[in-house]
Amino acid sequence: MKTYDWIVVGGGITGTALSYELSQVGFSVLLLEQDRIAQNATRYSYGGIPYWSGTSISTQQLCAEGIARQRQLPDELDANTEFRQLDLLLTIELDRDPKEIADLYHKCLIPLTSIDPATACELEPLLNPDSIAGALTVSHAHVNAQLLTQAYHAAFIRAGGESQNVRVEQISQGSVRSDRGETFAGQNIAVCAGGLSRSLLKRSGIDARIYFTHAEVIETAPTDLKLRTIVMPADMQRFQLESEASAVGVDRLWDAPSSELMPPSIDPGAIQFFDRTMRLGQFSRLLTDPYAKIDAKQSELEIRAKIGKLLPSLATLPGTWHHCLVAFSHDSLPSIGTLPESENLYLFSGFTSPMVFVPPLAKRFATSLVGTRDEIIPQFSPQRFA
Ligand SMILES: Cc1cc2nc3c(=O)[nH]c(=O)nc-3n(C[C@H](O)[C@H](O)[C@H](O)COP(=O)(O)OP(=O)(O)OC[C@H]3O[C@@H](n4cnc5c(N)ncnc54)[C@H](O)[C@@H]3O)c2cc1C
Repeated sequence: MKTYDWIVVGGGITGTALSYELSQVGFSVLLLEQDRIAQNATRYSYGGIPYWSGTSISTQQLCAEGIARQRQLPDELDANTEFRQLDLLLTIELDRDPKEIADLYHKCLIPLTSIDPATACELEPLLNPDSIAGALTVSHAHVNAQLLTQAYHAAFIRAGGESQNVRVEQISQGSVRSDRGETFAGQNIAVCAGGLSRSLLKRSGIDARIYFTHAEVIETAPTDLKLRTIVMPADMQRFQLESEASAVGVDRLWDAPSSELMPPSIDPGAIQFFDRTMRLGQFSRLLTDPYAKIDAKQSELEIRAKIGKLLPSLATLPGTWHHCLVAFSHDSLPSIGTLPESENLYLFSGFTSPMVFVPPLAKRFATSLVGTRDEIIPQFSPQRFA
């Protein structure tokens, strides 16, 4: 049996970017992805690149590297990733104080501009001015996350990487076993299984402080309506939920087979892609069962009702409801590195803004394995939660 330098589990944005970068520094890599047709978080992502959002020296440096890398990747990977600059509009609910909300962003690398509802509507004519107290805006960037992932994957294969459609059932020291009983040997194993990372590690006898939300969006058919910006709430409820549901005291509740840790939330937002489809979202639920059944009809109605207040003409567009899992960590920062007491088993997951942070961190991680020690990677060790 061939022993690979690295086995990477999961073929979303994290797994493909990491596989590509590992192959670029000379490692033999096997990427294992369970699904032939992606139904993952990357598939349903808005694809926003918040390169303005870094608040610490490290995240600000990564923001600068992330946007530079996104600009460079279409050439390097020889593919169109639909990268573009696109204004972001962060809406402020009627009952909130715009100044208080603006203060939440005061540490960001690039300052945001506060605007009144009328100015917000000049930027985004589909917006209902009576639904907001104001907005914040900043120059943002956008990528088609699915195209970027396919581009990383194709470049990885061209570089000699191997990939197979296999569901990994269990991980042991130096190998992984599939649900069909095959074994694959790797000197190092990286878990990039997104929202399923937690359960995969648990099945392998490893506890890790990595969590997931159930996310739900509506994908519309192509439309002649034109959304000029990415619209999202300035105060995302999802981040609050994630922080509370991963606090130390709550952590053990994740091991309950089927429970709802917090009431769900909807963060009304919208983005339009080059093919004129839109994604309207986003429901977030904290259900400990990754396979929990969700009432799709009810959920779609509730998303449409919220969108209808903010962006009325979008609420009735024909579309389909979709569900996926999104990984997160307690402090919203990625988890990169070995897991406690598990030498050669790495986690590369939990990115809250992967479109800006994954490209530079995958590259830094790979180069740190063959060169000098990276000063940023150790800050994201999963062992910071131990
Ligand atoms: C509606 C929505 C909007 C978003 N907007 C943004 C945004 O604007 N900007 C941004 O940066 N991020 C955004 N995100 C978040 C971002 O899309 C995700 O964090 C990111 O795509 C996650 O990538 P991943 O590789 O960790 O997980 P995934 O894309 O979920 O990939 C994990 C893969 O692992 C595979 N897998 C799991 N278990 C196994 C196993 N046992 N064996 C083999 N394979 C396995 C799965 O099949 C899956 O393909 C958004 C997410 C959603 C849902």
